[in-house]
Amino acid sequence: MVDKNILLLLAEALLYFAVMAGLLYGRRRFGIGLFVCAIGVMHFLETYLASVFYIQLPFGQLSPGSTVLFSGKLMMILMLYIKEDAVVARQPIYGLLIGNFLIVGLVMLLRNHEVAPIAPGRLPDMSFVDEMGWLMVWGTTLLFIDSIAIILLYERLGSWLKRLPFLRLFVSGAAVLSFDQAGFFTALHFYSGAPFAAMIGGWMAKVCAAFVFSFMIVAYLRFVERERPAAEHPTDGRQIADIFYTLTFRERYEDLLRQTGRDPLTGAFNRRKLELMAAEAFERDVTTAEPLSLLAIDIDRFKSVNDRFGHKVGDDVLNALSTTLARGLRSDDQLFRYGGEEFVVLSPNLGPAAAALLAERLREAVNSHSEKDFRGSTISIGVATAPMEATDFDALFACADARLYEAKNSGRNRVVSAYSELRAHPTTSIV
Ligand code: GH3
Ligand code: MG
Ligand code: MG
Repeated sequence: MVDKNILLLLAEALLYFAVMAGLLYGRRRFGIGLFVCAIGVMHFLETYLASVFYIQLPFGQLSPGSTVLFSGKLMMILMLYIKEDAVVARQPIYGLLIGNFLIVGLVMLLRNHEVAPIAPGRLPDMSFVDEMGWLMVWGTTLLFIDSIAIILLYERLGSWLKRLPFLRLFVSGAAVLSFDQAGFFTALHFYSGAPFAAMIGGWMAKVCAAFVFSFMIVAYLRFVERERPAAEHPTDGRQIADIFYTLTFRERYEDLLRQTGRDPLTGAFNRRKLELMAAEAFERDVTTAEPLSLLAIDIDRFKSVNDRFGHKVGDDVLNALSTTLARGLRSDDQLFRYGGEEFVVLSPNLGPAAAALLAERLREAVNSHSEKDFRGSTISIGVATAPMEATDFDALFACADARLYEAKNSGRNRVVSAYSELRAHPTTSIV
């Protein structure tokens, strides 16, 4: 027989989630205000319950205020962040902080009134203020930290648990709620002498709540609202320089970057992306003393392909050539369309000799299918490697480009690298 209290807690969590998820779902119709207001309204009851309303479960004492309402609210804020972004999620976070401090401030003034009872003996009982006043301040401060922490943690876990949304939600929720329990309970213990059993019971209950709410959120994200909406939130106020400023849109922005930065004709990365990735690669490889090679590739006499067969065929050749180049690369190498019929390959962790071999392999792959697939086109390649030959991207590119020019001048359909120069000028050293 399941404990009646457990069934009641589950029913409370279900009711709470169903209504809040419904308000979240309706945000594009009615605005996010409904959802945020409902969260705010619940906060008062939740703090009151957490200070006085405890029930006994087999594993300890706990308060439905903390277990259902507080845990639920934190998970709701995370869900709001997932469906919208940090700009929207910070609205209830700041609103709750300011609103709760306002309550405490107002109550401090209110209790100084000389009360005139509306009926004999009906005096207000202000003792609840003593019971929860400072707890409210502390709980609110903790909530503010928790809200930021849960979003940050959820973001952090994204790179490991992107494909495991339940685990990502649960770990974020359970970790932050554990931290919260330690913080909140310490205050409760010194303030109202709450026993240690309430600490353990409350902690286990919060972890269970994180489990149940994560489950419901995953179900919501999977079955109710799959799509991420287009940004429709107000943009004003975005310049507020807080932690959310850096958090804002990061995940979406990275998604967008993953999708963009590609040249539509060939599907290779574009020149802008090259600049971004080269800067990253320099930071990663060169500062850790790994080599970074760059291949500057240009199609030989490509103009004549256009002239003889037309621009459309020229485009097809460009596309086919790009595919052939991409197939010849290692998994770490990246192909960029630098300009019209010019490509660049960025090869992290590839020294000068291996880069020259890679270039030769690419040249031969095109050469051997030149007539069949590329209307007789061949390619010339210039190869350079950092940090041996250049210490920044511009210098690396200039070195490879100069060698490409040399390849063109010495007859095309060839590779020029440090090694070809070495053969031409035996006294040059590349180390
Ligand atoms: P080489 O490099 O061997 O000196 O000769 P080239 O004929 O390739 O020389 P150049 O770089 O001067 O010419 C590039 C030509 O590439 C010019 C243009 O007709 C063609 N081209 C550039 N972009 C595109 C494109 O997107 N589609 C097509 N079809 N042709 C393009
Ligand atoms: Mg060319
Ligand atoms: Mg060219």
